[in-house]
Amino acid sequence: MSDYEKFWDAPAETLTREAIRDLQLKRLQSTLDRASRSEFYGAKFKEAGFDPQSVKTLDDLCRIPFTVKQDLRDSYPYGLLCEPRDRMVRMHVSSGTTGQATAIFYTRKDLDSWADLVARCMYMAGARPGDVFQNLSGYGLFTGGLGFQYGAERLGMLTIPSGAGNSRRQIQIMRDFSTGVIHIIPSFALLLMDVLTEQGIDPREALSLKIAFIGAEPHSEEVRQRIEDFYGIKAYNSYGLSEMNGPGVAFECPCQNGLHVWEDAYLVEIVNPRTLEPVPDGEYGELVMTTLAREGMPILRYRTKDLSRLIPGDCPCGRAHKRLDRIQGRSDDMFIIKGVNVFPIQVEQVLMNIPEVGNNYQILLRRQNNLDEMLVRVEVTDRMFVEDMRRLQGVLKKITHDLKGELLLTPKVELVEPNGLPRSEGKAVRLIDQRDM
Ligand code: ADP
Ligand code: ZN
Repeated sequence: MSDYEKFWDAPAETLTREAIRDLQLKRLQSTLDRASRSEFYGAKFKEAGFDPQSVKTLDDLCRIPFTVKQDLRDSYPYGLLCEPRDRMVRMHVSSGTTGQATAIFYTRKDLDSWADLVARCMYMAGARPGDVFQNLSGYGLFTGGLGFQYGAERLGMLTIPSGAGNSRRQIQIMRDFSTGVIHIIPSFALLLMDVLTEQGIDPREALSLKIAFIGAEPHSEEVRQRIEDFYGIKAYNSYGLSEMNGPGVAFECPCQNGLHVWEDAYLVEIVNPRTLEPVPDGEYGELVMTTLAREGMPILRYRTKDLSRLIPGDCPCGRAHKRLDRIQGRSDDMFIIKGVNVFPIQVEQVLMNIPEVGNNYQILLRRQNNLDEMLVRVEVTDRMFVEDMRRLQGVLKKITHDLKGELLLTPKVELVEPNGLPRSEGKAVRLIDQRDM
């Protein structure tokens, strides 16, 4: 295969480790220079006694102060701009999953390089000019809509902005236009499976899908497997966040063994969330990111609160850009019950391995007689289960047993008939903590 066929941006994708580091230092220095022009970083550097000119090697990175979400909220709306306001041509806000939203601004050049990054991701996973691409992502302020739209157009795909929700219409569009590539939130991909089943449509027969990009929310390998098996496609993990433009930050290659972070555009660190010291590759911690190619609103050492690790070793695809492991969740998602730390994704892994378990579940934490209790509500695949007491008991026992094995505590489990649990239009809400109510 020639380089032209394998890479969207061969010069960037084939950089060696050494070349990546050289480029990163150069770009970090100019990013620092730009950032110090903003009201926010100007003040922050002064307060921290940090001289942006003093960064001479990448090892100096650890002296740069962190940026946290609250900083973005405090300097809302324009405090992080390092160019005049009238040079900005686009604004997005984070979806506000964990509180008040934050605004991100883009210059024309920022939009251009962002579109290129997203195109690079999709091309790497096998999308090609001429493919029909359906973006089942919320548009508007959320970056997943326009982010993928511009990237897909840049790549040269016929791009259908079908937006979030509206399952039946989505399926109709897939059929009418022979959609081959989709971008979809994993929880919506699961929901759509139920709708297709209800309609008696086998996507392997009736649709032309070959590739899905799934992301925007944590999901387990087991969910990816379900999606791939049901639709008869390859599903690639897509990671991004508004503070770092949106989608296009890290993406799986055909090897599906971690998400390459585009290190020419982003500097990636994993730190211990308590000590804030960097951890070695292979160890889990909080993901910290720095923009290296953003003009209007650079962000330095942003604490994402997302927990992951860098995978040591080389990727067989030949790209030297470091690989991020599947995100385990946000540090805010972790809950403590009876002294045990639990991530919702651990529950998901167990559930999705059990064939009788359907595509939706919910974790409810509540206090009963002064004791914390964890209730896992699970949709079953078939209404029959709920009516057949013996089978029902068997499934209940199996779920409880497997959850206990993973979590080392015994949750209560309740089986619910198909479509019995609430669904959300955007990112799934899996955890409901009622303990303080
Ligand atoms: P919000 O933080 O309000 O949800 P964003 O829309 O910017 O706003 O979402 C970015 C966040 O979504 C990330 O920080 C991460 O928590 C989550 N996320 C995005 N992609 C993935 C993915 N592939 N796997 C797990 N989580 C993801
Ligand atoms: Zn790879």
